[in-house]
Amino acid sequence: MEIVKVENLSKHYGDGETAVKALDNVNFSIHKGEFVAIVGASGSGKSTLMHLLGGVDQPTNGKVLIDQTDMYSLEETQLAIFRRRQIGLIYQFYNLIPVLTVKENISLPLSLDGRDVDEKLLNDIIQLLKLENRLHHLPNQLSGGQQQRVSIGRALISNPAIMLADEPTGNLDSKNSEEIIHLLKYFNKTFSQTLIIITHDEEIALQADRIIHIEDGRIIRDEVVRS
Ligand code: ADP
Ligand code: MG
Repeated sequence: MEIVKVENLSKHYGDGETAVKALDNVNFSIHKGEFVAIVGASGSGKSTLMHLLGGVDQPTNGKVLIDQTDMYSLEETQLAIFRRRQIGLIYQFYNLIPVLTVKENISLPLSLDGRDVDEKLLNDIIQLLKLENRLHHLPNQLSGGQQQRVSIGRALISNPAIMLADEPTGNLDSKNSEEIIHLLKYFNKTFSQTLIIITHDEEIALQADRIIHIEDGRIIRDEVVRS
């Protein structure tokens, strides 16, 4: 089943002489449960693609279908709800809410949605992320690795269609970096959680099922590493 379908997707900044084609007519699909790495030089358009897949930007042209929903045909409020339920975003600098505790940060997508937190699921996630002794801490009382584990919890709590991670280990040492990738792979393999990671770490990319190479806003290679 195609969980992601990208059709003729473009994002241009500015116009005339100074126009930048950050993304230039990109097409691809991702199956449910796939682990895809997106690689490319700095400025090649990776984050632009990630923002468009995450519903947090507007394309200049083209479509993004997530689980068969044409995201950019939704009006703003609908898009916000769809995003909260179906997309788990993980950033290099965690993007946690500083005044909320670990438990509150993880539950946030559900509380914003006015939905009750499934305590069993929450507890399972907390155990797997080894955060049980940090539930009432604030983000600034945590290490980088712990903060990134909280952001993984927040991304997972709504059981999203896709998890998107933009350089999730870019700010971590090698030990924490390995742990974060191990956790993301665990959720990918155990729960068939579709996972898309942007990275420039070749070791991480080689752990994916598939590597999409981007250059100047275009896909220049799309290779299956394992199937
Ligand atoms: P990457 O994540 O691969 O480093 P980006 O997607 O951030 O690349 O950027 C792709 C291109 O788009 C770059 O040339 C960048 O300068 C340009 N770009 C990104 N965001 C903006 C913006 N808000 N305004 C103008 N140009 C942008
Ligand atoms: Mg980037």
